[in-house]
Amino acid sequence: MKSMNILPQPDPVPLSLQEIDPLEIISIRHLWAGYGNEMVLEDINLSVKELDFIGIIGPNGGGKTTLLKVLLGLHKPAKGEIKVLGKSIEQGRKYIGYVPQFVNSDQSFPINVWDVVKMGRLGKRGLFQPYQRQDEEKVAEVLNLVDLYPLRHRAIGELSGGQRQRVYIARALATEPRILILDEPTASVDPQIRTSIYTLLEELNQWITILMISHDVGAIARYVKTVGCLNRRLHYHGEKLLTQTMLEEAYQCPVDLISHGLPHRVFSDHCDGH
Ligand code: ADP
Repeated sequence: MKSMNILPQPDPVPLSLQEIDPLEIISIRHLWAGYGNEMVLEDINLSVKELDFIGIIGPNGGGKTTLLKVLLGLHKPAKGEIKVLGKSIEQGRKYIGYVPQFVNSDQSFPINVWDVVKMGRLGKRGLFQPYQRQDEEKVAEVLNLVDLYPLRHRAIGELSGGQRQRVYIARALATEPRILILDEPTASVDPQIRTSIYTLLEELNQWITILMISHDVGAIARYVKTVGCLNRRLHYHGEKLLTQTMLEEAYQCPVDLISHGLPHRVFSDHCDGH
């Protein structure tokens, strides 16, 4: 009879102890972009990993809008590479859910909450294709996520600023993105509403990656996981560390960083228009 040589097998390493490299959602490498011969983004490098919550701050004219436009495929970079889930911007754009800068100007627009959010499903349909049951289900799901389902029949103009901002976040979520990109999500809402929006983003970040542009340095320090300062060049170290040096490099002037534990508070009134 043949003897079997049975070697002891190592215990399997529990999943939680394995080094799992999170998926890279956005990769930006040596990116340069500008207008004509004037470069406003210089050698930008950024790796956004799954479930990151990145806040990007920077002075006016620092290139934040240009970076967003490049990420959304609306502005062609001069050189460098951007990938979204390993794909070119043209192909990867569909994984980005964009929440534009909040403006208080559409109050009289005659459309209800449900229909605004349903617009997020348009990209999932062919042109002139009717909505299907999955679209309605997704709209209901994301409205529940942002706590607005009970107000689904309400005209958008009847909502408060904070509720309207939640509608736009829901619309972006309805596209089933892998990353939410927000431009100044609390620019013109009052402090109480601001807190509720950041709390919502914190909750959403449990399952979705977020990149947010903001002037609200206090909120950035309080809610995000990592911070970058953009002033043509991006000062980003993949940490939630807002140092005096980073700020001064980005703002190119002395900035007072006053720390009371967390959140850090930053005053920079003499060099930034905000
Ligand atoms: P931020 O959003 O941080 O304020 P922007 O990306 O809007 O910065 O602008 C960066 C620089 O690019 C600024 O100097 C601005 O004047 C310039 N710029 C922005 N848009 C255009 C444009 N369409 N044509 C020429 N220059 C532009």
